[in-house]
Amino acid sequence: MSDNAQRYAVFGHPIAHSLSPRIHRAFAAQFGHDIDYRAIDTPEADFVQQLSAFRAGGGVGANVTLPLKGLAFAACAQVSDGAARSGAVNTLEALPGAGWRGHNTDGPGLIADLTARQGLDLRSRDVLLLGAGGAAQGVVHALLEAGVRNLTLTNRTPTRADALADRIGQPGRVHVRYWNDLATSGSYNLVINATAAGVTGGSIDLPFAMVAPRALCYDLSYGKAATSFLAWARAAGAAQALDGLGMLVDQAALAFEIWFGRRPDADAVFAVLRAELDA
Ligand code: NAP
Repeated sequence: MSDNAQRYAVFGHPIAHSLSPRIHRAFAAQFGHDIDYRAIDTPEADFVQQLSAFRAGGGVGANVTLPLKGLAFAACAQVSDGAARSGAVNTLEALPGAGWRGHNTDGPGLIADLTARQGLDLRSRDVLLLGAGGAAQGVVHALLEAGVRNLTLTNRTPTRADALADRIGQPGRVHVRYWNDLATSGSYNLVINATAAGVTGGSIDLPFAMVAPRALCYDLSYGKAATSFLAWARAAGAAQALDGLGMLVDQAALAFEIWFGRRPDADAVFAVLRAELDA
């Protein structure tokens, strides 16, 4: 790799678990490129300074993960329509000269995994979304556009779920429930865990009654971070319990296409990582 190579990175905290560097290097290799893509551990207080240092050092594209997606949105000079709607950015593209254009590929990545890879029809789904952070903000509009019947939001800190529902503004289809009332607030045939509990060492202990017969439970986390939620889902009788590896690879493919103008073969990379994580 030459010293003046264009640089790419993923910013987050924690970040050691991230597969993004491997995924983007694998995508680049499909086109015969070598890519300088690193993981940069960045607490919230350091993000703005770290992002400037990255740009000054030749950074031209970045991904952003927890807990930085809102800060990344605020740091952008321009944002795509999807990022503007969600208020969260997971992909940064350097603008000519200075500044960043922000995108959000989380929502399209989730829908691509659920529909194209898993073959699901989302139109019959009553969805419960756990969490109201950057990832939840990124996926809500995509779920609604994919035609889910209802979307119910719940979050450990209720005011964030209320704020997200207000931001979406579809009171006929979007509802908010208190986390502690889930035992008595109905059942759902798609339960999506968009909390960071698995990554930060917490666990999800929710009533089994909210998982409807033949439900799919989906954790945006993957690998070890998804173990606790997926075990809970199986114990609750979910027909399918999936982690977010497919979403991770699909959102990365969309980011790669933004930077390089070419769509990589996401399925090939997914197959390798799936086999490794399942081994
Ligand atoms: P974030 O902005 O930091 O938000 C964290 C969310 O998790 C908040 O809703 C927070 O609730 C909740 N939370 C944290 N610990 C919890 C606990 N012990 N019990 C219940 N709720 C808890 O993080 P994010 O960017 O939204 O990321 C969330 C997760 O999604 C991460 O695990 C991330 O790796 C994953 N993700 C995966 C993909 C993918 O492509 N597969 C894409 C995006 C994100 P409070 O508001 O109460 O703090």
